[in-house]
Amino acid sequence: MVKLAQNLSRLGDENAFAVLARAAELVAEGRDIINLGIGQPDFPTPPHIVEAAIKALRDGHHGYTPATGIPPLREAVAADIHRRLGVEVDPGHIVVMPGGKPTMFFSILMFAEKGAEIICPDPGFPIYRSVIDYSDATAVPLPIREENAFGFSADDLLGLITPATRLIILNSPANPTGGVTPAQEIDKLVKGLEAWPDVAILSDEIYGQMTYDGQEHKSLLTFEHLRDRVILLDGWSKTYAMTGWRLGYGVWPEAWLDHVRRLAVNCHSCVNASAQFAGIAALEGPQDCVGEMVSAFDERRAFVAERLNKVGGIRCAVPKGAFYAFPNITGTGWDERSLASALLEEAGVAVIAGTDFGNYGAGFLRLSCANSLDNIAAAIDRMESFLAENEPRHNG
Ligand code: PLP
Repeated sequence: MVKLAQNLSRLGDENAFAVLARAAELVAEGRDIINLGIGQPDFPTPPHIVEAAIKALRDGHHGYTPATGIPPLREAVAADIHRRLGVEVDPGHIVVMPGGKPTMFFSILMFAEKGAEIICPDPGFPIYRSVIDYSDATAVPLPIREENAFGFSADDLLGLITPATRLIILNSPANPTGGVTPAQEIDKLVKGLEAWPDVAILSDEIYGQMTYDGQEHKSLLTFEHLRDRVILLDGWSKTYAMTGWRLGYGVWPEAWLDHVRRLAVNCHSCVNASAQFAGIAALEGPQDCVGEMVSAFDERRAFVAERLNKVGGIRCAVPKGAFYAFPNITGTGWDERSLASALLEEAGVAVIAGTDFGNYGAGFLRLSCANSLDNIAAAIDRMESFLAENEPRHNG
């Protein structure tokens, strides 16, 4: 029998894609499904960005580009970071990637080896855990708690660091919870990290422009003295509704630049050239498209929390960032997997079970606000009726 590498069995998945596929199957069978499962904006990419990509193709940009990205795009990213965060970044430290995920994948591979521990949020974006498990490193889950409004606790995190810790993964604003870690908690963590100068940090700030209720997004890039060990992950997918373009970037410490460049050359050579020109147009063009999308998410997440809190047995923290709500459903008597599955199959509402984001997601569901207010309202009406009409199930 053909023998595959053992570690393949440890590579995880992102269940949101499976739910999307199942929802599409049900729609094809004629069922009416409201999709609150997928984590991508329900807006089209703004037209001036699309036009820039078409122009790039017409202008003959059909070939390879430098592995780290075309210089004007890296300069545009540096200017954007300066505009938003007031931080000077050398464009040479920016590495453009096909989406946000490769920065995650390469950062983990760079530190993962036998005996290494990598701390990652739980519940958290499932790919962190999956890639750590695939590598020879050990994942150390950082519990993300409802009682902290789903921000991480600096004390919890510092308590998990050991001499074996090589990398810490942070994500604020967060998927799947919509939590935003307060600035004072981040300051506390940074202070505590002084005792651990050999630990690297991957800060996934892909939802950095999506915060609400005046909540501040504090970027790890603003700590000058950490710049030699912080990797910032960001991209265009969420901010500019460009998930299918596959365009993201990392800001890297000088010492690791050549390693990530070689990983990129070995993996994908470079990012699609026309997408890179679209990326410049996104950053240098009008930003009202971002503001409009964020206000729509703001209205929806406030509505979702308020409405869910009126459903018997459900309690929902008001999301402070990103575009997800993470209601606690333990009061319904259902477990999250049975309820997510029954809602899709029987009530026509696609949501994701909290445990698809880690064990600490037990008792929660993730609802994405990437759908119209009318559809969100109808979806929660369906959930409410379904819960009223059905006895709790525990299928695991
Ligand atoms: N990081 C987080 C926290 C995300 O939620 C996502 C996408 O859902 C990504 C990274 C990946 O983004 P991309 O689609 O650009 O690879």
